[in-house]
Amino acid sequence: MTYPPTPNYIAGRSVPASGSRSLDVISPLDGTLLSTLGMSTAADLDAAVKAAQAAFPGWSKTPIKERVQVFFRYKTLLEKNLNELAELISRENGKTYGESVAEIEKSIELTEFATSLPQLVTGELLEVSRGVECRTEHVPLGVVASIVPFNFPSMVPNWTIPNAIALGNCMIMKPSEKVPLSCGRLVELLREAGLPDGVFNVVNGDVEIVEAICDHPDIQAVSFVGSTKVAKIVYQRATQHYKRCLALGGAKNHLMVLPDAIPDMTAQNVAASMSGCSGQRCMAASAMIGVGNVDAIIAKICDEARKIVPGVNLGAVISRESKERIERYIGEAERDGAKVLVDGRNAVVKGKENGTYVGPTVIDFVTPAMSVAREEIFGPVISIMRTKTVDEALAIENANPYGNAASVFTQNGGMARYIIDRASAGMIGVNVGVPVPREPFSFGGWNESKFGVGDITGKSSIEFWTKLKKSTVKWNPEAGVNWMS
Ligand code: NAD
Repeated sequence: MTYPPTPNYIAGRSVPASGSRSLDVISPLDGTLLSTLGMSTAADLDAAVKAAQAAFPGWSKTPIKERVQVFFRYKTLLEKNLNELAELISRENGKTYGESVAEIEKSIELTEFATSLPQLVTGELLEVSRGVECRTEHVPLGVVASIVPFNFPSMVPNWTIPNAIALGNCMIMKPSEKVPLSCGRLVELLREAGLPDGVFNVVNGDVEIVEAICDHPDIQAVSFVGSTKVAKIVYQRATQHYKRCLALGGAKNHLMVLPDAIPDMTAQNVAASMSGCSGQRCMAASAMIGVGNVDAIIAKICDEARKIVPGVNLGAVISRESKERIERYIGEAERDGAKVLVDGRNAVVKGKENGTYVGPTVIDFVTPAMSVAREEIFGPVISIMRTKTVDEALAIENANPYGNAASVFTQNGGMARYIIDRASAGMIGVNVGVPVPREPFSFGGWNESKFGVGDITGKSSIEFWTKLKKSTVKWNPEAGVNWMS
């Protein structure tokens, strides 16, 4: 085993989980046993909530300009430890080293945004009538929880950690049981940055802890990122307990390629979008709709896909079950009459035979009814459908229950605007394959890709992690008794 058993982190101390179950943490790169992870119980969660509650009065009363100093230092520590953090992400998640570096760079950008929060949460003040002032203040909620998926072991936790904590909350993090090690390193860096004990706590586990978080009476808000199936469960259960909840779910992102698209640039973007992080991004292109004759562009996409080689510039998928699921989808498409132009099944990397790799896969002549057209595959697979018109393409995109992202490749600005207006997704790209908004713009999908109000990052997150206090103040008795005057 490469790393010691992964502990919880409660009140500034590493403590073992008290449950009787434990899971192996396996590297998808080569099947190595990295660590074991003890499953926590509701009692462990309760201890973490108590630690967070104890820390809350001191932390929330610390002025925000002081609180963000921790995150200036944290940002520097992320930069200083970038190589080692990236290495760890690759090992536990299976993505390439370059993709892991990009993930830390995004974590740095997220932290940078949090350090700007004092400039954004100044509140408002207005003399509303003679001598009478109304004032608003953003007040932290208390103890909040963040439940995260396996595909970004650092970036997704950092969607919530810097903003929620800089805004004065104390947090319980529930990492993915598949990739708990990176979060353990974030704990150490936050500590080194000077975050007081109890402000950030980590409780490892699976379903039992997620349910306990939703049920716990002293947790005020829950953010969740993961599959739509679990997002629905968490959203229902947390709100049933009257908590604020924002639950981000899965995706099926459509790229529309028009005949006037720039061929090389489009092909490179489509191939990179569908295969980056082995297709395990909620913003990955999963379906492509070719409008009119785009055969030449599809040929170039295949050329680009063939340059992407497992174990060289393509990482592993998270587990054997994932590899089997992805390959099952490709088989189903073939049986249903689609044509597999580039086939990533049965990929084996020499010397890493126990790794779980799927090569880039391009499937053409897919119809909207096929499972590869409708469902989230979460692997390096693009399913290509053909339509005669943009409106037919939009109808396919609109009919999908998800709504994270959609992109169009064209040189026609009017057509791009037409599609921006009609695509049913929260994040739209024009000649951009992975249209993730950068800070200060916020991240969040529509439809079954997100449940709850607002977005999880950027300015929008301020509303989620705080409540608004409104005071109406009058200190001038000479101005009369009527506060409306
Ligand atoms: P997942 O839903 O299986 O797990 C997410 C979290 O929920 C984990 O911490 C896990 O322990 C917990 N969990 C799993 N099953 C549960 C259950 N039955 N009850 C309660 N909790 C449960 O997701 P994953 O496989 O880790 O991540 C991949 C999914 O996440 C994909 O669907 C992807 O699209 C989605 N995702 C979405 C976004 C977004 O921004 N919308 C971002 C990243 C990932």
